[in-house]
Amino acid sequence: MINFQFVRAHDVADAVRHIVAEPAARFIAGGTNLIDLMKQDVERPSRLIDISRLPLNSIEPTAAGGLRIGALVPNSDLAYHPLIAQRYPMLASAILAGASAQLRNMASTGGNLLQRTRCCYFYDVAAPCNKREPGSGCSAITGLNRMHAILGASDACIATHPSDLCVALVALDATVHTAGPTGERAIAMADFHRLPEATPQRDTNLQPNEIITAIELPARGFATNYTYLKIRDRLSYAFALVSVAAALELDGNTITEVRLALGGVAHKPWRDQSAEAALRGQSAGPSTFARAADVLLRDARGFAHNTFKIDLARRAIARALTQAAAGTPQSQSNKKIR
Ligand SMILES: Cc1cc2nc3c(=O)[nH]c(=O)nc-3n(C[C@H](O)[C@H](O)[C@H](O)COP(=O)(O)OP(=O)(O)OC[C@H]3O[C@@H](n4cnc5c(N)ncnc54)[C@H](O)[C@@H]3O)c2cc1C
Ligand code: SF4
Repeated sequence: MINFQFVRAHDVADAVRHIVAEPAARFIAGGTNLIDLMKQDVERPSRLIDISRLPLNSIEPTAAGGLRIGALVPNSDLAYHPLIAQRYPMLASAILAGASAQLRNMASTGGNLLQRTRCCYFYDVAAPCNKREPGSGCSAITGLNRMHAILGASDACIATHPSDLCVALVALDATVHTAGPTGERAIAMADFHRLPEATPQRDTNLQPNEIITAIELPARGFATNYTYLKIRDRLSYAFALVSVAAALELDGNTITEVRLALGGVAHKPWRDQSAEAALRGQSAGPSTFARAADVLLRDARGFAHNTFKIDLARRAIARALTQAAAGTPQSQSNKKIR
């Protein structure tokens, strides 16, 4: 039995006070990742700070025409919210491609951003892992690496970020709002997660004493021509081998605006502006899509068991863009499953 303390935060300022007072503490929201990590002895917080009852569970329009999503909005409520379903259906599709209905009911928006990698060595405390124990080595580089990164990996870590929600948020140019001891901050979603480089123990640019308060979506939602395509080993309850968030604005067959982001391929959701530039102004079709995939994957590198992901990603990009252009999204069932 590992002892830990438990406190409940009364408001955001109280939550920040608690984490500043006890740096070895952890916030707990839905607990769907943190509790697993504690059971596996990967995380040993001295104290849990329960933030689940803070008033951060509403979705409200912003003055700029977008939406502000409270950090504690459950993934299910977010996916089925009428404004998300109508104006940001790619985000709803990405959420519904993740986990299971029960997990989505518990999982919070902020917690989804901060879920840890699913690398099996990270969860195995007997194995060397630079992310869990800096300097111990990376078991995956010479071990089982079928699920691992093909882009942006380092000699220290080749893990991927497992979120679906985050891939759509990066594509949609979302902003993360935080609060900490020195005040509030806004971080572009594209800059929120980090590449592993020499410090894989740091997944994000959030400071340890900051709390996520909200995610902001800009007005542009790409509600007509979009797709979230997730390729995985099983149809549900499995993390992405490769996922693609593709969104287009078209004038006839000409691409006037585009967003393209990948999941399951890197330590962070992977968005490449040069691949988007290769699509903008071009006519929507197989040769344009293949060229954009080549640009996006130009630096892709596989390991012993995951080289297949490079070709898989190439095909997934082409398929997602084709479906987006045709206005036939590869979405999950939007039926209400609670
Ligand atoms: C079996 C299984 C399958 C899954 N499949 C998928 C999938 O396919 N796709 C997908 O995207 N996800 C998947 N998930 C992950 C799931 O979506 C996340 O576990 C969930 O979103 C985390 O949210 P939570 O509120 O439960 O976080 P918690 O477990 O409570 O917290 C996670 C981390 O975030 C921190 N935290 C939480 N909220 C805040 C905040 N507001 N500010 C600062 N820190 C905070 C906690 O301290 C902790 O470190 C799966 C999970 C499981 C268990
Ligand atoms: S890939 Fe990263 S998380 Fe996995 S063993 Fe290597 S260092 Fe650890």
